[in-house]
Amino acid sequence: MSPRPRSTPLTITAVMGPPRTEWCPRCKAYTLTCTNLHLLTPAGVTKSHAYALCEICDDPDDPEVNRG
Ligand SMILES: [Zn+2]
Repeated sequence: MSPRPRSTPLTITAVMGPPRTEWCPRCKAYTLTCTNLHLLTPAGVTKSHAYALCEICDDPDDPEVNRG
């Protein structure tokens, strides 16, 4: 019946790695911007996730219309 001890709230900091450009596997253009997102907690890095965004494939104003 004792209340759970409450420590300080967990602090999570999201750190975005440096972006880099790679070849896009979809449109075969050098337009894929990749970056890694790291979630940092007081205990260390808990999660890393890679993000990739192609300025051609992922452009909502210009849907993929040209096919090889
Ligand atoms: Zn692409």
